[in-house]
Order: sequence, then structure tokens, then C-alpha cells
Amino acid sequence: MAKYMCMDTLRFLLFDVHKIQDLLKYERFINFDESSIDILLDAAKSWADQDFYPYYREMDEKPVYFKDGKTYCHPILKKIFQHAGENGWLGTYFDNEDGGMQMPLTLSNATNHILEAANNHIPGYLGLTSGAAHLIATFGNESLKSTFLPPMLSGKWGGTMALTEPQAGSSLSDIVTSASPINDRLFHIKGQKIFISGGDHEAVDNFVHLTLARVDGAPQGTKGISLFVVPKYRVNESGELVYNDVCAVADFQKLGQRGYSTVHLVYGEKEDCVGYLVGEPNQGLKYMFQMMNGARIDVGMTAASTATAAYYAVAPICQRKTTRQTYPKHW
Ligand SMILES: Cc1cc2nc3c(=O)[nH]c(=O)nc-3n(C[C@H](O)[C@H](O)[C@H](O)COP(=O)(O)OP(=O)(O)OC[C@H]3O[C@@H](n4cnc5c(N)ncnc54)[C@H](O)[C@@H]3O)c2cc1C
Repeated sequence: MAKYMCMDTLRFLLFDVHKIQDLLKYERFINFDESSIDILLDAAKSWADQDFYPYYREMDEKPVYFKDGKTYCHPILKKIFQHAGENGWLGTYFDNEDGGMQMPLTLSNATNHILEAANNHIPGYLGLTSGAAHLIATFGNESLKSTFLPPMLSGKWGGTMALTEPQAGSSLSDIVTSASPINDRLFHIKGQKIFISGGDHEAVDNFVHLTLARVDGAPQGTKGISLFVVPKYRVNESGELVYNDVCAVADFQKLGQRGYSTVHLVYGEKEDCVGYLVGEPNQGLKYMFQMMNGARIDVGMTAASTATAAYYAVAPICQRKTTRQTYPKHW
């Protein structure tokens, strides 16, 4: 199998350059030691070898497509979500009490780098699910946490970040998606979002869109933006999943990540889309920055990982065996 990254180099960067072992003295990381870090890195690498790398070319050649109201993705994605859920990969950096591994973020990012280098069509789906769930874990009440975290962290439901609208890209102060109160926690949502990564596909049973919207009468600009959990299927009083009137109506193609779905969402076409307010009204953009900052790190990681894979693909001279011990001391 061709090499897409070098574990020795990654270990050198983690242990010798960034001294990840120094984090282990903190109470938060009491369950980790150097050997468990090694085991987790190796687990990520073998998962990447098995389920990511073999599919990167196929996912590029047969991109995600939208037809008759459905978004079709590569079938491996279903197995990926299942494996991620069963093995804790969706909650790596979450608190133990929220169902996470409480891993240092540096280590979580390092495992992500391995997956990204192997196949950069896939990790975004997982990263957005983790990011959306983490937003609920950080700012949501107990009811939101108990409803949404277990199915998201077990890989049954996917998560998204829904900010951009046809008339509002960088200028989030211009968003117009509306939220009309049903009570102080529940709102009717109406509007559109575009470029929503991972916003629809067939690998999960439900989608949880972390959505920015404006409560009726809210102040203009960014001071009037609130954050809502808007599932594609909501849980009704009997505990059943019912369609929540938010769906994909078209897709967009990503240059270089053709296996990674991106959709146009329409909320409330039948006036029956319910959103659950997260935290306080008008504080939504502040909360959303947690997820946006995570996405920024992931986008940077995608670039670094793609460059790494390209380096190992085209520069055989650079594939010489290097180990932590063989690096010059002054590096
Ligand atoms: C691959 C991909 C995935 C995405 N995934 C998501 C997602 O999951 N969820 C989501 O909500 N959105 C997503 N987006 C949308 C993304 O957040 C927007 O594309 C971004 O916010 C920029 O908006 P825009 O494309 O409308 O560009 P614009 O806002 O129109 O910007 C166009 C250009 O004008 C410049 N510009 C804009 N405003 C100013 C200003 N005030 N002063 C000076 N220059 C300015 C910008 O820097 C840029 O160069 C995704 C986009 C891409 C490309």
C-alpha cells in the first residue's frame, strides 16, 4: 500500500517537538499515558488503512450527488459512522460525563490528521458531528444533552453547522432565517441555509443542524442572532421520530472533496419546523464561535494533511525510514 503519512514523523512532532507527554500531568488527562497515546495513534492508523485510504480515489471519481430529494454518498460512510460511534471517535475530546474520552485536543487532532491524510472526503462528516454535539454539551440544557448527545456520539445521527444563507456569507449580521416563539425554549424556524457541509446523506438516520436564526423582534445585526438545535426528525411526545420540515433541496460540489456532501437546506416550508433554543436568546453567534473555531482548526488540518499525503505520494526520496531516535538532536 502506498504511504500517505509517516507515523514516526507524527510521533516525533507530538513527543519531541510539542511534548504532548507534558499534558499528562493534568488531572483532566489522568486516564492517559504515553503507551495509551501510542495505542490510540496506531488504532487511528489501522482504521485509516482499512476504511479510509482504499476509498479516496473512488470517492473522488464518484462524487456525492443529489437526485429526487435524496443525497447519495459512498456506502463506506455508513460503516465509518458506525465504527466511529462504537469506538468513541466522535467524542474524543469531550468530558467523560458527556460520554467522551477526555483526550487532549492535540492528540485528537493528531488522530484526525491520520484520517485526513488517508482520505479527506470523510473526516469532515465526523468533525461536524463532534463539533455540533460539543456545542450542545457546552451550552445546551440537560434536556438537549440527553436527547441529542447519545445518538450523535454513537454515530447514528450526524451534526452540521448551519450559518450561511444565500444573501449572507461572511456577513452573518445579514442572516434572515426567523425563529417565532412557541414557548420560551421552542420556536418555529423558517429560512434557508446554503453550503451546509454534511447536511444530508444516507449514512445516518437523522441530522442535527446547529442553526443561527433571528427571534422575532430581535435587535438588528449580530446582537440579534440566536442558536437553535434543528433536527431533520424531531422526537415527539410519544418518543417517536417525526419529520421536522427541514430538508435538502439541492447540493453543491466541493473542489477536491467531492465525496463530502454540501447541501442547500430549506426550513419550515410547511410551517412545521421546530427549533430548540440553545442557551440564551441573542447569544447565538458567541456560542457558535466554539464550533467555528473547531472548524477553522479542521480546515487547516485538512490542508496540512492533504499536503502530507501529496508529499508522500510524489516524493519517494522523502520516504526514507526515520524514527524519533534518528532525528538530529537540534531539530
Ligand atoms: C467548502 C465549503 C464548505 C462550507 N461549509 C459550510 C458549512 O458547513 N456551514 C456553513 O454555514 N457555511 C459553510 N460554507 C460557507 C462559508 O462559510 C462561506 O462561503 C463563507 O462564510 C464566505 O461567504 P461567501 O462565500 O458568501 O463569500 P462572501 O462573503 O461573498 O465573500 C466573498 C469575498 O469578499 C470578501 N469580503 C466579504 N466581506 C468583506 C468585507 N466586509 N470587507 C472586505 N472583504 C470582504 C471575502 O473575504 C471574500 O474574499 C462553506 C463554504 C465552503 C467553500
